[in-house]
Amino acid sequence: MHDFIKALIQKNGPIDIGQFMSLALGHPQLGYYMKQDPFGANGDFTTAPEISQMFGEMIAAWILEVWQQMGTPSPFTLLECGPGRGTLMVDIMRSLKNVPGFHDAAQVHLMEISPVLKQMQGAALASYNPKWHVNLETVPDQPMIVIANEFLDALPVRQLIKSEKGWDERLVTLAGEEFGYTTRPLPIDIGVVAKVGDIFEISPVRSGFVADLVKKMSKNSEGAALLIDYGHAHSGFGDTLQAIKDHKYVSPLEFVGDADLTTHVDFEAVRKAAEGAGAQVTDPVEQGAWLRTIGIQHRADTLKAKANEAQKFDIEKALQRLTDSSQMGSLFKVIGITNGANINLPGF
Ligand code: SAH
Repeated sequence: MHDFIKALIQKNGPIDIGQFMSLALGHPQLGYYMKQDPFGANGDFTTAPEISQMFGEMIAAWILEVWQQMGTPSPFTLLECGPGRGTLMVDIMRSLKNVPGFHDAAQVHLMEISPVLKQMQGAALASYNPKWHVNLETVPDQPMIVIANEFLDALPVRQLIKSEKGWDERLVTLAGEEFGYTTRPLPIDIGVVAKVGDIFEISPVRSGFVADLVKKMSKNSEGAALLIDYGHAHSGFGDTLQAIKDHKYVSPLEFVGDADLTTHVDFEAVRKAAEGAGAQVTDPVEQGAWLRTIGIQHRADTLKAKANEAQKFDIEKALQRLTDSSQMGSLFKVIGITNGANINLPGF
């Protein structure tokens, strides 16, 4: 990956952070997600569905209520974007298996670019006959419920830096054999008031995806989406590009293609993109608060009632990890999007 990007820069000049992220994560052979299973103790990071089944069970409760509010359409598309190992969808389908009509109605669709993860998803979800997509275009036109956990953070972001004269764009270039940063003046004014040195991140790809999702939902009479990720409720300044390898932060310019590369999600920008496409959008809510509103404490108590001491400890630890402000509870946000006038999204 390093040599590929190096040759590209030598040939065409510096590349923007978005191009760098797209290549590092998604290059068909060399990209990070194309080569490996990144999750768990032996991987680079752990996500909420991998921590506890309770996470998926809360999302299942949300899906069920939304489906009922939609008038229990059958069939409908249950789409997950970036499903990782498929764990979240497995937990959702398992916990709704006794709901009359749900399994018959729900058609499982997965949006995924990684061949390695696609294979794992296929194994985990074989009994639900999932269909895969690389973009939204091929997803069938029918009522849909969409979920995505830690998907938006992987979409490419560009970084703009306020200069004396206007705005510069941060680029990746070569500093000898290594990668380094440089800048190039941006030919347009982005209309954001800032002081010299402030970094503002924009993600045309992420905003475009959200707008396309809303357009897709609108084609299909009714739809709702639940997007969960780390990030901030309001647009702000700062460099949030981060690389994680073996559960530790590393420089984004090192281990390219062998470390996860993400940014924090600007939920205000997500909201504007969805509203701009005609959807109703909830305020972003902290993950801890959202899980508690849906009922995670009650679920933890029920599980603990049937558990031995070691299991009780694990359940409590997972609950803390998902909801505590010092862990995932505050940094992670949940936002709901719908085009259905009569849908009142639970948990917000
Ligand atoms: N939701 C899972 C995985 C999160 S990691 C969990 O919570 O465990 C990000 C996921 O998004 C991976 O499955 C990755 O392969 C996928 N992904 C990243 N970029 C993508 C893109 N542009 N299109 C589709 N899937 C993508």
